[in-house]
Parts: sequence; C-alpha cells; structure tokens
Amino acid sequence: MEAHQNFTTVVKLLLTSWRDADAGKYGDAYFFVGQVNDAWVVVREFLPEGAPVCTDRGEWRRYVDSREWWRAPFDRVRPGLPVVSLAEVKTYACPHCGEARPVVEHYVQTYDSAEGDNWLTERLVFCTDCKAASPVAQPHNSSMRMR
Ligand SMILES: [Zn+2]
Repeated sequence: MEAHQNFTTVVKLLLTSWRDADAGKYGDAYFFVGQVNDAWVVVREFLPEGAPVCTDRGEWRRYVDSREWWRAPFDRVRPGLPVVSLAEVKTYACPHCGEARPVVEHYVQTYDSAEGDNWLTERLVFCTDCKAASPVAQPHNSSMRMR
C-alpha cells in the first residue's frame, strides 16, 4: 500500500482499535507500542476527551457483561491497556526525516480456516510530519494469536 494512503488508515485505527473487544480478529488493528515489555498502549491524545479508564478487573467484567452484545465497541479503556503520553511510546527513526518517531503495531488475522490460521504483526514507525507509517522490520506471521 502507498505510504500516505496507509497513514490515513493507521490514524483512524489508532483512534478506534482500543474499542474492539477482539482487536485484529475481524480486521486491521493498530496500537502504539510502549517502552515497557513491548506492550500495547493507548496514547492519551488519541483518546476522546474524558474517556473512562478502567483499572479494576471486577468492575471491567461487570461492564463487559452489561453491554448489548460481546462485540459492542468499548467506550472505556480496559485494564491491561495502559494509557500513556506520547513520550512513553517506543520510538524508531523515520526513514523519511530521520527523526525518532512513535512505533505502532499492526495486528490482524489474515487467514482463518479449520486447517490453520495466520496472524500477522508488523511494526511501523508513525511520523505525523512525513504523514507516513513505514515498516521498521519484516512482518511476523504466526499460526497462533500473538496478542
Ligand atoms: Zn518523518
């Protein structure tokens, strides 16, 4: 995909993937990658103003059960998905401008069958100046869920 077209999609999905009850299963998901344990994180600036963050697992379970159906988009951030500032995101040099920019991860199930599945993870450097999301390494494929 052409870099600039791809950038628009990445922005849109960075704003919405945290809402998905099974991110990556039914389409592309994008998350920022934190500096701690390579974990997915949500950047505060990419959350709607005042979006609730849930840190209590019991409370979260009650919230999940209260929704209309299991895939209803979350309107609060789940426990285990840290909300951080952009400064707390892993960085990598943008190939276009050379500046250190946030790393995001693309995650999606690309194949689903009785014989076997395929899950893809791909790390990209996300540069708002160059409006580009550029690969930092070869994509990684697995027959198992990685997230
Ligand atoms: Zn750049």
